[in-house]
Formats: sequence, structure tokens, C-alpha cells
Amino acid sequence: MRRQIVLGALLVFGALSLTVAALQQPPAPSAAGLEVEKLTDNLYVLKALTNGGGGNTSVFITANGVTVVDTKNPGWGQPLLEKIKTITNNPVTMIINTHTHGDHVSGNVEFPATVDVVSHENTKANMAAMRPPSFTAPPAGGPAPNIFAAHQGHNLPKRTFKDKLTIGAGADRIDLYYFGPAHTNGDAMVFFPSARVLHMADVFANKGLPGMDANNGGTGIGYAATLTKAANWADSANVEKIVNGHNAATTTRAELREFISYIQDFVKAVQDGKKAGKSVDETASAWKTPAKYAGYEAAPVPVRVRANVDLIYKETK
Ligand SMILES: [Zn+2]
Repeated sequence: MRRQIVLGALLVFGALSLTVAALQQPPAPSAAGLEVEKLTDNLYVLKALTNGGGGNTSVFITANGVTVVDTKNPGWGQPLLEKIKTITNNPVTMIINTHTHGDHVSGNVEFPATVDVVSHENTKANMAAMRPPSFTAPPAGGPAPNIFAAHQGHNLPKRTFKDKLTIGAGADRIDLYYFGPAHTNGDAMVFFPSARVLHMADVFANKGLPGMDANNGGTGIGYAATLTKAANWADSANVEKIVNGHNAATTTRAELREFISYIQDFVKAVQDGKKAGKSVDETASAWKTPAKYAGYEAAPVPVRVRANVDLIYKETK
């Protein structure tokens, strides 16, 4: 009897700890945890249904193979490969990494070594180091280990570019652009001309305050100017849809222009705070999203606001 009670208590306690763990940790990576959005017959976006999956992944099917843009958090490489098999029988032949952050590159280590890996030249250098972003709180238990160091450099970038790189031709063509530093100093924008889709990743992650990563060459005061170059180019190329780093849906060029003015307003408010002699903390806690930005996150994560304010203070002479 007593033993049964103890056993029962242990079971209840076990179930409780499982529940607590489930609340604290995102669900294990699985193909079932990925949602497929079809943009055209040969271009798809694979999104993690829950927080913890990582950035959006574009999947572009060409005659010779499949190109994957960004590979999400650790553990999501195999689920991505599994999910891609439900879309096409063509093998994955190329990964393009938009920038160095762990939620966009970590799945690389689960792809075969035969895959070509392409990034901006600064992103290749950043990925060798995998410095944590400046705008997120360090995880409990210390910074995540360098996933590429732990995998003998498996699927670090093999091919890089500086300003522009064209891969393939005709319907299979992909154009990579670098318009300058913003989220990091190696933000590649990936254009699929046949679909008129531009994968911008975390330079325009969602309708909210972007990370301005001081640890990886990002900028606050130059952010809007880089985005304006991209937006002017997108107008000339008649881009129809933008794949954002973390947004649930694609966005438009009009939404990109609105995002640029949101960033300009943020930077101006921060610089005004500095001019008025306010401390970084005072300026960070005073900032809130102006009401005219409908659909934007009302209160960005404080650690991100503070890190961005700190960078803009340092950049403003
Ligand atoms: Zn990022």
C-alpha cells in the first residue's frame, strides 16, 4: 500500500516535471513541426509551427537539385530534409545561409557533405566564430557551444560573395545581394527572379524591432540606409513578395517601406535621448512602438531594446 502511494506520488511528480519541462522547452524538432507554404510551383517556405524552430526556410526546386535558404536551430536539419522529400524527389544540392545566427545556420551540420554552402564572405568568417548575438540574453548555463567547432567545421560556407552573386540561369536563376551592414555585416538577400520573391531573412524579420547585432558587425544608425538601398533595388526588380526571417506570412514592398520608417523613428528617438543627456537605460525604457505602426509588436523584448540603444549611443558621435 505504502509502496503504491510512493510510486503513485513519483508518477505524479514525474508527470509534473515533464509538464514543467514541456513548458520551458520547445517541442523536439520533427518534420510534423514544419508547415509548408507554397509560393510557386517550385518555391516553398518551410516554417516551424512553434517557437524554437528558428528562422523561415525557403526551398527552391531546380532541374539539377534543391536549394535551401537557412537551416534553422540545432536538430532541425533532418526534419527539413524529411519534409523536403514530401515536396520533391530532387536531392538537396545547395544551402544558402543569409547570416550567422544559430537559428538560421545550425541545421547545416545535419546535411550531407556533398551540399554546396554559400554565404556572404563576412558571414563565413562570423560562422567560424559563432559569437552570440548582442541583442539576446545569454542562455542559462552559458552561451551555446559553437556548433561548427563541435562538428569539425562540417558544412561551413564553401563559396562566398561580396556584393552580388548569380547562381544558375533561366527559371533556375538565383541572385544574391549584399546591400551593406544592418542586422549583421553579412546579410545576404536571396532573389528568385522567376518567382519575383526576395528572401530578406532577419534584416526584416517581422513587424517589430530588429536585432542590431554589435557582436557580428550589425549597425543601428546605418540600418535604415541599407534597407533603403534594398527597397530601391526591389522596386526596380518588381519584387512581389518578401520572405521575412520570422514572420508567419510573406510581406510586400509597401510593408518594407513602412518598416524602414519604423526603424528611422526608433533611431531618431534614441539619438534624441542621447542629445538630451539621458542614460542608455532611461532611453531604452522610455521607448515604445509609435501607435501609427499598426500590427507591430507593442513592447519589444527589453534586452533587445537596450542592446540596440547601447549600440546607437556608441555609433552616434
Ligand atoms: Zn538573426
